[in-house]
Amino acid sequence: MAEGGVAGGGVCSYGEQSIILTSLLQVKEREHGERMNKLLKGSLVVACGVVAVEGLRRLVYTEPQPRKDPGERVPYAEFDNRVLIVGGGFAGFTTAKTLGELTKDRDDVGFMVINKENFFTYWPMVAGIISSDVETKNVAQPLRRALIQSGASFRRAELEDVDLEQKVVKSTSGLEFPYDHLVLALGSDPAFFGVPGVEEHCISMKDLADAELIRNRVIERFEEITLARDEDRS
Ligand SMILES: Cc1cc2nc3c(=O)[nH]c(=O)nc-3n(C[C@H](O)[C@H](O)[C@H](O)COP(=O)(O)OP(=O)(O)OC[C@H]3O[C@@H](n4cnc5c(N)ncnc54)[C@H](O)[C@@H]3O)c2cc1C
Repeated sequence: MAEGGVAGGGVCSYGEQSIILTSLLQVKEREHGERMNKLLKGSLVVACGVVAVEGLRRLVYTEPQPRKDPGERVPYAEFDNRVLIVGGGFAGFTTAKTLGELTKDRDDVGFMVINKENFFTYWPMVAGIISSDVETKNVAQPLRRALIQSGASFRRAELEDVDLEQKVVKSTSGLEFPYDHLVLALGSDPAFFGVPGVEEHCISMKDLADAELIRNRVIERFEEITLARDEDRS
């Protein structure tokens, strides 16, 4: 016998041997696949069990958490020393935050911020609105929550007048805000240095609406130029 071998007491060629070997391998692979499937299914069942047990544990043992921070600690009017901060920009916000840190162990000092908008404007990024690199909502950040977390109260109101005798700030809506100590942090207005026509014809950049107006104007000019160029070509 020049070729072949003995299989199951019979004689078979190399071709037959390789077919038998392939079949044996296929059977082994199938068995291996089934074992892996069982293992995967087992792991999945264990994982689901763990998740379900953890879910139940949280449901039974965890205290319900408030979805929002609690509001003002005590109404501002009830404090012996009331500090009223008018303006919630860089200066006003920093004053409130610092006061919060300095008076956190005292219950005789209360402070309130009033601002004409309910958001803080991060001025250094305003130029990014004009170039369309930054969205307005990323430049204007909500004030109320951050201030309450610092221990302050917040009201959206616009200052109209201060009665120094009565120690009261009057707002445009008619509401009055009493104080024992007053911080005025109202920022600044644009200066035109008396140059004729500047105030009437320029758009200042002291408002988010101004920034959006400039951005939209620039885009409009580019669109007009594109149309004009198309007309020239036709
Ligand atoms: C476009 C721009 C870019 C700037 N970039 C930079 C920079 O890159 N780096 C830098 O160091 N400085 C920069 N500055 C300057 C910086 O923003 C100011 O120095 C800083 O904002 C001053 O802080 P403030 O608290 O005095 O005023 P503001 O931050 O302007 O805050 C004043 C607050 O008072 C409120 N307010 C005003 N009037 C009333 C009213 N009657 N009643 C109630 N609330 C009122 C306003 O709504 C505002 O929230 C920039 C300024 C501008 C305009």
